[in-house]
Amino acid sequence: MRFTVRSRGDHDSNMISQRIKNYLLEFSLEFDPESPDIVISVGGDGTLLEAFHEYTHRLSETAFVGVHTGHLGFYADWQPEEVEKLVIHIAKTPFKVVEYPVLEVIIRHNGERKSERFLALNECTVKSMEGSLVMDLEIKGDLFETFRGDGLCISTPSGSTAYNKALGGAILHPSLSTIQIAEMASINNRVYRTVGSPLVLPQHHTCLLKPKNNVDFQVTIDHLTLLQQEVKSIQYRVAEEKVRFARFRPFPFWKRVKESFIAE
Ligand code: NAD
Repeated sequence: MRFTVRSRGDHDSNMISQRIKNYLLEFSLEFDPESPDIVISVGGDGTLLEAFHEYTHRLSETAFVGVHTGHLGFYADWQPEEVEKLVIHIAKTPFKVVEYPVLEVIIRHNGERKSERFLALNECTVKSMEGSLVMDLEIKGDLFETFRGDGLCISTPSGSTAYNKALGGAILHPSLSTIQIAEMASINNRVYRTVGSPLVLPQHHTCLLKPKNNVDFQVTIDHLTLLQQEVKSIQYRVAEEKVRFARFRPFPFWKRVKESFIAE
């Protein structure tokens, strides 16, 4: 089996990454950062997000597992003390894989520029850089509302516990094939009106944003920020690809939610 290890880059994460690499080489696994069967990320959730983006071109062949060197993460759920156990699992057992949906984002521009396609594991946000953002929001080809406010967050179920949660969005089980739209400070008065509640769309329902004013805005895809100009539309739906996590022990999602947000 081919593996790679991705470190957050701090001292502790680098040391643990090196230990994992040495152990796996001793078990005669092949170190192959080009085409790994498994990617072990060491750091935090952000490190796993970076690893995901590095391998979006081969998601069907790559599984991810995360070790946390800070606090317990949603993606980074193995503790540094458990590294030996994890390595033996990886080396000795055919591992179980769970697949979760990710978000497809297509940005189309005015003029000749080609459209761009991205995948997000957590979410895509659009945020105004100055003034209010005004965008038409279409669902399945029909105008649903004209949004006016700070921005919008379109998240995956796995990302529902991240930025989406801070915006009052619902926590969704990551196995659900959905996308969720949450507002950032919408202006609501007698002139401007939006639904005000987060919306959850099923698979195959497309959401389209069309900018209506000339305000510069930024688009984020997980931890990445893209500055956008001349955008005609941004289209969202559940992607055909899925993210694959290697599972070596049960860690029920709701237990993780409780341990992260309520109490251990
Ligand atoms: P970061 O260092 O700012 O960390 C953000 C926090 O989000 C970390 O504590 C991380 O553990 C947590 N996180 C990431 N994915 C999560 C998930 N799926 N469920 C629960 N918690 C999660 O940034 P980063 O580590 O590069 O992560 C980028 C992510 O940060 C973005 O995808 C976005 O979801 C999140 N974020 C949140 C807010 C907010 O809550 N107001 C603002 C900006 C970004």
